[in-house]
Amino acid sequence: MKCPFCNHENTRVIDSRPADENNSIRRRRVCDECAKRFTTYEKIETIPLIVIKKDDNRETYDRSKIEAGILRACHKRPVSADSINLLVDSVETEIFNREEKEVQSRVIGEMVMNKLKDLDAVAYVRFASVYREFKDINTFMDELKKVLE
Ligand SMILES: [Zn+2]
Repeated sequence: MKCPFCNHENTRVIDSRPADENNSIRRRRVCDECAKRFTTYEKIETIPLIVIKKDDNRETYDRSKIEAGILRACHKRPVSADSINLLVDSVETEIFNREEKEVQSRVIGEMVMNKLKDLDAVAYVRFASVYREFKDINTFMDELKKVLE
C-alpha cells in the first residue's frame, strides 16, 4: 500500500481492529519513508465465509475471533503485534484460497496451531490446550513433547 503523503511503496500495518460491527477491518499503517500514519479499511469482497463449529452450528467467518485466540495464547510472550497480524493474514489467505463457502473451525484451528508452532512454543501449547481441550496433564505433556522435539 503506497503512502498517501509521499507515495513511497513501503508502508507497514501497526494496528488492526474490527470496524463497522465486524464487517470491515480498520488498519493503521505507517510509512517507512516519512513516518506518517494513515488508515485503511478492508472489506470482504465476496459472499461471507461460513464457519462450521464443533456443535455443527454455523457462523459468519470473523477474523477478530482468530486474532483474539492468538492474542490470548501470546499473552506476555515475546511475540509482536506485527507477527500476530502476519500469522492471521496467512491463515486467512489459506482459508480463502480453499475457495469453499464453508470451513470447519477445526481446520482453522489446525492452521493456526501449525503456524504458531514456529512462532512461539509456549503460545502454541497454550493455544493447543484451549483448542484441543486437553483432558488431563498427560495429553498436555504429549503435546509439549512434540514441540520440544
Ligand atoms: Zn510517506
